[in-house]
Amino acid sequence: AKNSPSEKIIVFENGMHELAMRNLSLQNDMRRGLEAHEFFIVYQPIFFLSTGELYGFEALLRWSHPQRGIVSPGEFIPAAEESGFIYELGNFALTKACNDFAKLLKTSPKDNEITLSVNISTKQLAKDNLIDIIEYAIGKSGLPPGLLILEITESSIMEYPDKSAKIIDAIKSKGIGIAVDDFGTGYSSMSVLQKLKLDKLKIDMSFVNRLTESSEDCEIVRAIITLSNSLHLQTVAEGIETSEQLQILRSLGCELGQGYLCSKPLDVKDLPLLITQNACP
Ligand code: C2E
Ligand code: CA
Ligand code: CA
Ligand code: CA
Repeated sequence: AKNSPSEKIIVFENGMHELAMRNLSLQNDMRRGLEAHEFFIVYQPIFFLSTGELYGFEALLRWSHPQRGIVSPGEFIPAAEESGFIYELGNFALTKACNDFAKLLKTSPKDNEITLSVNISTKQLAKDNLIDIIEYAIGKSGLPPGLLILEITESSIMEYPDKSAKIIDAIKSKGIGIAVDDFGTGYSSMSVLQKLKLDKLKIDMSFVNRLTESSEDCEIVRAIITLSNSLHLQTVAEGIETSEQLQILRSLGCELGQGYLCSKPLDVKDLPLLITQNACP
């Protein structure tokens, strides 16, 4: 009969099988791609909102796939997290970004106050060798640790609050900064936040998007900035696309920001010009 329980089970299993097969082939493809040097980093500038001066860059992974073209991280990071390939990929992103940046700083000696932000995934954060990997990337590249900022999402911190506190302590003791990414989406516990040695809160793009349409979102952003100030942290807004959004963020006292209004993520070869101009284009 149609829709008998056993049929449903078979359909379900087939669906699972298909998904598992797709993830397996994506995983193999990523492994091949990493060996073939198809992965690279683009850099999105971060600016001081009050002056428009350059503050630093966020490193974002890209995959230049032979058939698919440029693939964005939203399409492969979740699969990489699931399969455990994120350790190799995250390691690559961190070392590559540190190397690119150390080289860049050598050719622009006057501007070596510019920071590099690198994203760290939940799985990387939970693994015990993260601090060794960070030390290696810094040591090998020669990047001054004070210029490196690691971005950890609010949800991964809240998933492992005790472990996060220990790792954050270890990272901070090296002189490296910590930013809480996607802030406002992860149900933070204020008591956890207060105990962590943080430097920055990054307001999630979803709030910035709705800043001009929704007074509630505007109030959320105001509350995040107030919280950030009271914890003596810097606030970064991401996904600024319009000058109206920029105006509101400025008036709310948000210190730093990034978004398509000022610049999309750039190829490493385009960074020296931006550093020289030192302004939101
Ligand atoms: P994220 O850390 O929240 O990064 C911000 C994302 O917003 C980036 O997407 C960036 O290109 C995009 N963006 C910046 N400005 C604007 C804007 O004005 N409008 C819009 N609509 N988008 C903007 P991207 O590069 O696709 O990265 C997506 C996510 O993938 C990142 O979100 C981050 O969670 C993850 N990711 C990227 N690189 C890495 C990496 O090296 N390691 C890990 N673990 N995750 C990474
Ligand atoms: Ca980020
Ligand atoms: Ca973010
Ligand atoms: Ca995000």
